Amino acid sequence: MEKHREQCRESYKRHSKEKSDYARKHYIENKDEIRNQQNESYTENKGNINLRRKSYREIIKEKILDHYGHKCQWPEGCDVVDSETLTIDHIDGGGNKHKREIGGSNRLYKWLIDNNFPEGFRLLCWNHNWKHKCNMEREKKFTNIERAKDFFISLW
Ligand SMILES: [Zn+2]
Repeated sequence: MEKHREQCRESYKRHSKEKSDYARKHYIENKDEIRNQQNESYTENKGNINLRRKSYREIIKEKILDHYGHKCQWPEGCDVVDSETLTIDHIDGGGNKHKREIGGSNRLYKWLIDNNFPEGFRLLCWNHNWKHKCNMEREKKFTNIERAKDFFISLW
């Protein structure tokens, strides 16, 4: 009995060494192929892996970004496509007022989905979103100056 166990142990040792030798040899001979397979499998699953890591809000945001073209739509052109640097822009302004009405900026994404992606919105990168805001402010000031001018002229 003891002898049999001894034999088994020997045989196991021999075989497991053979097996690991085989695995090592197989890996060395097919290294590139094996690595490619691993990379391919990562690339194939990357979307899923990333999706699993994303929060509910990020998933909703992705859906909206996809709908609105997933790229900054600044009229003069802009190549920003990164989800984290893209934001929803109210084309005609009034974004703050609108966000207040729907209960905060956190609700905007859900509101867009619930309202079936309405017109009047576009994606801008943060820089161009800021630039748009500045342009609108300037325009508003200019309109006010023009109005004031008209007013004073009318007094003459
Ligand atoms: Zn941009």
